[in-house]
Amino acid sequence: MSSRAPALAATLAKPASAPAGVPLGAMQARPAAVSPAVAPPMWLLAELTYRCPLHCAFCYNPVDYASNLNELSTAQWLDVIRQGRKLGAAQLGFSGGEPLLRDDLEELVAEGHRLGYYTNLITSGVGLSEPRIARLKAAGLDHIQLSFQDSSREMNDFLSSTRTFDLKSRVAALIKQYDYPMVLNVVLHRYNLDHVERIIEMALAMGVEYLELANTQYYGWGLVNRAQLMPSQEQLRRAEAVVNAWREKIGKRLRILFVVPDYFEDRPKACMNGWGSVFLAVAADGSALPCHAARSIPNMEFPHVTRQSLQQIWYDSDAFNKFRGDAWMKEPCRTCEDKHKDFGGCRCQALALTGDAANADPVCGKSADHDKVVRIVRQAQAAQVGQGGAQPLLFRSDANSRKLARAKK
Ligand code: SF4
Ligand code: SF4
Repeated sequence: MSSRAPALAATLAKPASAPAGVPLGAMQARPAAVSPAVAPPMWLLAELTYRCPLHCAFCYNPVDYASNLNELSTAQWLDVIRQGRKLGAAQLGFSGGEPLLRDDLEELVAEGHRLGYYTNLITSGVGLSEPRIARLKAAGLDHIQLSFQDSSREMNDFLSSTRTFDLKSRVAALIKQYDYPMVLNVVLHRYNLDHVERIIEMALAMGVEYLELANTQYYGWGLVNRAQLMPSQEQLRRAEAVVNAWREKIGKRLRILFVVPDYFEDRPKACMNGWGSVFLAVAADGSALPCHAARSIPNMEFPHVTRQSLQQIWYDSDAFNKFRGDAWMKEPCRTCEDKHKDFGGCRCQALALTGDAANADPVCGKSADHDKVVRIVRQAQAAQVGQGGAQPLLFRSDANSRKLARAKK
């Protein structure tokens, strides 16, 4: 996978609408016995595996992923995909880890395509050989999102702790050759924000049609490395100015999405477009999640697709109902006029920064904990741009994951 968390979050912050190529009827399917207040999910994200050959320091996978590397079987994934479609989901994403590590990816894509989903693959590119992309095309895969870590080989390879830059460049060419829309995703942070111009030039040279420049969201490994990854306000301002200048220069030739890190805003993003509103993720081990970072919230039991149907999970489970709607909100969200715009922000961020997932996301200027966010940003500004800070980056690896899991106990 890669940078997918920010990209997905950015997408989900938009109003829900049918993705291109998706029949609208699919969005309207609703089981008869269900409360009309709860719409069916629109997106089903299958996080096929947490295994990945890369070691990104901002990876959004759970930091303790190595304690549970169980994966659903092919038959179980097929069942999930069929149930998701019956429930009304119209878009099916395959991510991970690296979804190409699953030999059954083509079979799962083919079933998704047969059922009428719009299918997309979110990949680091590792494993996307020509025979593989040809098979995926034949299976009906609609869309591929490829991640790069930077425009330079040195930084790309440093940030992923692998030598993958040349391989990714070859994969980018294959994606064009197989006539897919070229969607490139680069996660931004202190180490590469000053390279935005070169990243855009690289994207243009590759014939990219859609470039997602997603500033790091501080969950998972990004949170562990926050002090090292957080840019300065000045860096961010410069990068945004570069993006705007290029947008003017090249118009629609390359569409650039620049997702500002919410620590630098004073209103939170509408995380997941609201909990249990449009998005249903199934983790590699079969746990169903209203957001891919939701497992960071302690004392919550997440339902499992081998024990309950997706319909029961979506409509009736405690986990999906816990932060649905607005009845759970405390002040200041409860009486806030914007509560249906941003749904109180991100539950995982509220937990990480205030210790209570039911609090307002402290990114919000109205939150009593907003000063914590301001302090973190100030500390980042004081730190020397381009240097890692006191701690070295902690790269995602099985050994580091086990260490972090032990430390959590
Ligand atoms: S290590 Fe990198 S490529 Fe692999 S899943 Fe994490 S973010 Fe994606
Ligand atoms: S108080 Fe809550 S609902 Fe209002 S803007 Fe802030 S986070 Fe959003």
